[in-house]
Amino acid sequence: KRLIVAIDGPAGAGKSTVAKLAAQRLGYTYIDTGAMYRAVAWQALNDRIEPDNESIARLAHKIDLKLSYADGKTEVLVNGKDITDAIRTPEVSRLVSKVAQVPALRDVMLKLQRNMAAQGGVVMDGRDIGTHVLPNADIKIFLTASISERAKRRWLELKARGYNIDLAELEAEIACRDKQDCERDIAPLIAATDAITIDTTKLTINDTVKKIIELCKE
Ligand code: C5P
Repeated sequence: KRLIVAIDGPAGAGKSTVAKLAAQRLGYTYIDTGAMYRAVAWQALNDRIEPDNESIARLAHKIDLKLSYADGKTEVLVNGKDITDAIRTPEVSRLVSKVAQVPALRDVMLKLQRNMAAQGGVVMDGRDIGTHVLPNADIKIFLTASISERAKRRWLELKARGYNIDLAELEAEIACRDKQDCERDIAPLIAATDAITIDTTKLTINDTVKKIIELCKE
């Protein structure tokens, strides 16, 4: 059986890294739902749209968003334009959690995400996958790590992309995003009651991937 695997958790817990590798090893499709919210935030910045509910709802209904999977890499396309790298900037990171609180946008995303997972054989990561998007997922993982470890990982990732950001500032930004994601009214970030929590603070990427693969084989 081709399973549906849901991975949720806060920023920098290692979700996308391990989800991508687990999907590769299982021969499944990896779906990064954070990238979908980031694409909308990117479009709002690009169009200089005020991120109020109404404008974001309007954008949600008209945006032409596509995720494509080419040799293990997810590409994000908006109106056919490749914005895979553009959605990872600090500007987008600062705006995305505000945009992600708009109910009409979450509605549109939820439908797209359910469609993408319908045939099974997917690993989907995000904040509300096990709780809202795929409540019937076969495997639910909640990945966490200490805030300082998460900030350190993000810092290294950004450095590799040429950004040199103050670590304390980055930690504050992640804490701010966590707070917005955890305290919002709809689909807040929380572990599903039937999720298995994995704290990755002291685990290697490979250890975590192995654990997930083992769970899928049980
Ligand atoms: O996963 P990533 O850190 O790229 O997600 C960016 C933001 O998108 C999150 O901080 C959150 O505000 C939003 N998001 C969400 N629901 C998801 C995935 C991401 O609200 N399923």
